[in-house]
Amino acid sequence: MDIDALADRIARGDRRALARGITLVESGRADHRTAAVALLDRLAGRGEAMRIGLSGTPGVGKSTFIESFGTLLTGQGHRVAVLAVDPSSARSGGSILGDKTRMERLSRDPNAFIRPSPSQTELGGVARRTREAVRLCEVAGFDVVLIETVGVGQSETLVSWMTDLFVLLLAPGGGDELQGVKRGIMEMADLILVNKADGDLKSAATRTRADYAGALQLLRKRPQDPQGFPKALAVSAQADTGLTEAWTEMQSLHAWRVEHGHWETTRRAQNVHWFEEDVQQGILARLRTDPAMAAALGDLREAVEAGERPPSAAAAEVLDRLALPGAGGA
Ligand code: GDP
Repeated sequence: MDIDALADRIARGDRRALARGITLVESGRADHRTAAVALLDRLAGRGEAMRIGLSGTPGVGKSTFIESFGTLLTGQGHRVAVLAVDPSSARSGGSILGDKTRMERLSRDPNAFIRPSPSQTELGGVARRTREAVRLCEVAGFDVVLIETVGVGQSETLVSWMTDLFVLLLAPGGGDELQGVKRGIMEMADLILVNKADGDLKSAATRTRADYAGALQLLRKRPQDPQGFPKALAVSAQADTGLTEAWTEMQSLHAWRVEHGHWETTRRAQNVHWFEEDVQQGILARLRTDPAMAAALGDLREAVEAGERPPSAAAAEVLDRLALPGAGGA
């Protein structure tokens, strides 16, 4: 495979090359991984998008929102990529965004690119691949990348490691609703959008927005938040109301973070995080694929399971075999 040619085509914004590049980073084959790593290396340093994480429970209106919001952005001349980290695809192979009819208009928009979540066996793997797909989209000239996720905390945490902004979509509801949102997810949000603020649901959405605005004020202030953030707004993805305001808020938050150095600090920390993740995963993969190591690992695991060896001593022995000092490390 000609990685240089593929890299050039992606950098020129060739959609088929982009799709091929993403297939490559998603692949579990060892030779594909080598090619993917080389591809990402070739494309280092190019292209920067605003990366927006979008989370919400099924039925809250994520695909309706992405359709309306994405169309709003392409209408303003932006190029929008939509990716997904889907914990259910890690388990079952099913996938949010798998059904493109959910975003019919946007999927036909020449300035939009929609890609379903890769199906892999573990969520961490899905997230790592998605993060690499984000890079490819930025290099291909998509200046806004939306990363959709639905989960109960873990997938949001992973997505927050690859985004600049985190948007939480919620449904109108009473106080019970407030209880239902995991505190950890609320703490991640930069913007809470109470969707379905239309028709019969409008007044409930207005009340819910106020409830969340109050709840957000009780959270600990983060250094990366300007005055007034995190914020809660009421929107209607269906009636297309409040979306321009939401975009204005996202842009002003993003600009503030860039100006005050938080954007750069976050990106740096994220890069280091993924570097360390890859090193850890790589070490584990090598442990499992090297026959002698795999056998030793199996024996030691059994010894630990049987209570014959303490976990710490068994782990130290594995690391000694790797010639890695510091068995007590993370
Ligand atoms: P997702 O599962 O989060 O992607 O949610 P969908 O976008 O598929 O929407 C779930 C249901 O809510 C659908 O029947 C939508 O038509 C409806 N819906 C989405 N957004 C709105 C909205 O702004 N107002 C109203 N009234 N319904 C909405």
